[in-house]
Amino acid sequence: MNLIFLGAPGAGKGTQAEIVCDKLGIPAISTGNMLREAVKNGTPAGLAAKECMEKGDLVPDDVVIGILKDRIAQDDCKNGFILDGFPRTVEQAEALDKMGVSIDKVIEISVPDQKIISRLSGRRVCEGCGASYHLDFKPTKVEGVCDSCGAKVVQRVDDKPETVLSRLETYREKTAPLKDYYQNKGKLVTVNGQEEIAETSKLTLAAIEG
Ligand code: AMP
Repeated sequence: MNLIFLGAPGAGKGTQAEIVCDKLGIPAISTGNMLREAVKNGTPAGLAAKECMEKGDLVPDDVVIGILKDRIAQDDCKNGFILDGFPRTVEQAEALDKMGVSIDKVIEISVPDQKIISRLSGRRVCEGCGASYHLDFKPTKVEGVCDSCGAKVVQRVDDKPETVLSRLETYREKTAPLKDYYQNKGKLVTVNGQEEIAETSKLTLAAIEG
């Protein structure tokens, strides 16, 4: 089962991918997490990505496509995967097609802009394993410490209010056209993001299985 989770930043793609991948026994692949790791480690891809990420712009297609291609070639992806945050442009979707990757379903998690802004201001991520949290909706058990790996939980630089609006604009301009791209292929299913994480998970699983 090869799945894509599509949606604006803060719609809950990562949170849902973490839940659904456990249930389906396939890995969740977040290009954002891989890029943050690359920036932290100072790899060539990280150096190419750093400035774009801090400004809330997309990283160039060739950099992201290269990282993704290497990741899905790994052994744990042979029974399927969930892509969280990729593709983000029509060019990236076409690159997936060219790699011969067949996508079973694209789950769009839809959340109104107003809610997105408040969700992003409370979002926190683990510096160690990339797990996502929210101050109100999904707090850590111990303040500032990741439940899974014990590393520090921080606010992403690109979740600061001044960057969020430009990320939403980038989503509308570059990524939202993917809805039509996959709708035309008969792959798109839209799930309305709910207040409760567990409610959205139920709808997401139903959309995958339906
Ligand atoms: P995310 O964690 O998915 O919100 O991604 C964080 C940032 O990483 C984005 O704002 C982009 O700068 C970059 N990024 C992640 N995935 C992609 C992608 N598929 N294409 C281009 N840039 C990406």
